[in-house]
Amino acid sequence: MPKKSLQTTLVHTDYTPPTGFDAYPPAIHHASTVLFKDMADLRSGQWKDKSAYTYGLHGTPTTFTLEARLAEIEGGSHCLLAPSGLAAISMVDFGLLKSGDDVLLPDNVYNPNRELGRWLSNDFGISARYYDPLVGAGIAELIQPNTKLIWTEAPGSVSMEVPDLPAICAAAHARGVLVALDNTWSAGIALRGFDLGVDIVMTALTKYQSGGSDVLMGAVVTRDKAINDRIAMAHMRLGMGVSADDAYLVMRGLPTMKLRFEAHDASARKVAAWLQARPEIRRVLHPAFPDCPGHEHWRRDFTGAGGLFSVIFDARYTEAQTDRFVDALELFGLGYSWGGANSLVVPYRMGTIRRDWQEQGTLVRFNIGLEDTSDLIADIEQALGKLGA
Ligand SMILES: *Cc1c(COP(=O)(O)O)cnc(C)c1O
Repeated sequence: MPKKSLQTTLVHTDYTPPTGFDAYPPAIHHASTVLFKDMADLRSGQWKDKSAYTYGLHGTPTTFTLEARLAEIEGGSHCLLAPSGLAAISMVDFGLLKSGDDVLLPDNVYNPNRELGRWLSNDFGISARYYDPLVGAGIAELIQPNTKLIWTEAPGSVSMEVPDLPAICAAAHARGVLVALDNTWSAGIALRGFDLGVDIVMTALTKYQSGGSDVLMGAVVTRDKAINDRIAMAHMRLGMGVSADDAYLVMRGLPTMKLRFEAHDASARKVAAWLQARPEIRRVLHPAFPDCPGHEHWRRDFTGAGGLFSVIFDARYTEAQTDRFVDALELFGLGYSWGGANSLVVPYRMGTIRRDWQEQGTLVRFNIGLEDTSDLIADIEQALGKLGA
């Protein structure tokens, strides 16, 4: 080849680094274009076949490695990544539902999933119906001939009811209906979805897997290749790409995830127990506490609880007063999401997100981070002092 011009030298290099480099951190492969060796290689590459690379959107060694690791953690065999937890939820719906179908969602479902159901109903000819999260085997009566998918969330991430997953799965499978589990609360650590019968495990990696409050990502894990392939078509058609840097951040969190989860769990139980003894708090909604609806299912099916729970203030406190409490907290950030090192708090207007919410008193959700619990409790105590009479 003739001598290259400087401009071409700026674009191309003849250098190849020595082979044989090895290290624990996975390599971060950035790519839109993937290079093929030759025409035979290009013509034989299939995007669905994860043994080959065709285009950045369809996977790189970085994303394939993260997918494989997440499938192993959940006890599944296939995994697809999406750019957020919510994108993973929508990928399941668009992969498995078509016009004329029906989907059942628990009434305590992650609210954007409910909004997606509303959109499917209004604009896509798919009916979305809502069920009592504690319905258990009674779900059988709600299943119609066109019902194709039942979403579950264990527990609901605001009101914390723990569903009877084996009963829901048994009723669904008796009618040929698939069950999807939003397993974000347990991070694949405290609840083994596939062992209880669910077909699809979806997780917001944004939470415990990342652990850094700095990345958005979601995953859909399945055991059955046919189900995975239907969702993979939605993954491809909707263009669900994730960045290699983000995939790296999630992978970096995995080795410490169980240790962090257990630390969140121990601290959350301490803080929740302290809150339960306070006169300002009428009810603690923590799945490991007997007061929580569905606690018996938590005891039977879970091995831990993580850092997220809610409380209901005594009804004598107005929303303005509980807002003062939240504003007075110093160690708790006011914000959505959870699973990171920082403690967070958010009040919810339950009447606006639940059809049949009966409880009086403001619901406030706590995410207990990795701070010392005595500091967190002292902070809550001083903020309770600002509630006013
Ligand atoms: C956060 C969350 C999601 C969505 O995850 P994003 O990455 O924020 O889109 C879904 N389900 C539950 C239960 C969540 O907590």
